[in-house]
Amino acid sequence: MKTKLSLSKIKVIRQREISRGVFILSFIRPWDFTAGQVVGLAGSENDEARLYSIASGELDEEVDILYNINPDGKLTPWMSQLNTADTLWVSEPFGSFCGSGEPAWWIASGTGIAPFASMFRTGLHKNKKILHGGRDLESFYFHELFEPELKENYIRCCSREYSPDVYHGRITQYLKEHPALPTNEKYYLCGSAEMVVDARDILIEKGIPFDNIISEIYF
Ligand SMILES: Cc1cc2nc3c(=O)[nH]c(=O)nc-3n(C[C@H](O)[C@H](O)[C@H](O)COP(=O)(O)OP(=O)(O)OC[C@H]3O[C@@H](n4cnc5c(N)ncnc54)[C@H](O)[C@@H]3O)c2cc1C
Repeated sequence: MKTKLSLSKIKVIRQREISRGVFILSFIRPWDFTAGQVVGLAGSENDEARLYSIASGELDEEVDILYNINPDGKLTPWMSQLNTADTLWVSEPFGSFCGSGEPAWWIASGTGIAPFASMFRTGLHKNKKILHGGRDLESFYFHELFEPELKENYIRCCSREYSPDVYHGRITQYLKEHPALPTNEKYYLCGSAEMVVDARDILIEKGIPFDNIISEIYF
């Protein structure tokens, strides 16, 4: 998504390709934020910014941004070429897709896992289940963070590859097959419009009150 925001210059301190075409870009945290919020990023002060979830914890010294290259896009192919000390323009953090200490399901497709990494790193992962969907086994970004702590409450749904410890199928299939979804817990959905809309419909069909479903669509 493109948007006009007030931007400040920051320097990249690190950029890592963690999976094919998927990067974590880091810069020193210039402001306070609430886990789950987004920032606008742009290549120059006058460009329209694209929105990205913050993936780091509220008290971390560095801000991490998890993103994938959109080959036809304006920002992400350029951003993926940045190196340490290169310049990027960033907005103040904003947004209301924020975590809490209540029991909840964190449901993400692809890079939509980023706000949940932020909530996890902020210490909000007690009483949480993570359901992460991806096409291949390389798509489960931050699994090394989630798996040791959440154990069976960290569920990977892989649609194109098989592995004994990974559910084979989409998130939506997992939700349809899951017998009992608690109706008094919160369900956070983040990622592609297709996943968010389809998962929301299934949750509603299964009796989850609309108010317990909180969504963030990446478009
Ligand atoms: C709240 C929110 C949070 C987000 N968080 C993340 C995140 O954490 N990580 C992440 O990877 N992404 C995130 N996104 C998506 C991100 O904002 C960008 O949309 C994405 O990275 C693509 O940016 P880009 O500049 O590379 O592509 P764009 O230049 O924006 O292009 C995107 C697509 O639109 C097409 N397009 C562009 N202009 C036109 C036009 N005029 N007519 C027709 N087609 C056009 C392009 O061909 C391309 O296929 C988020 C989006 C939202 C709304």
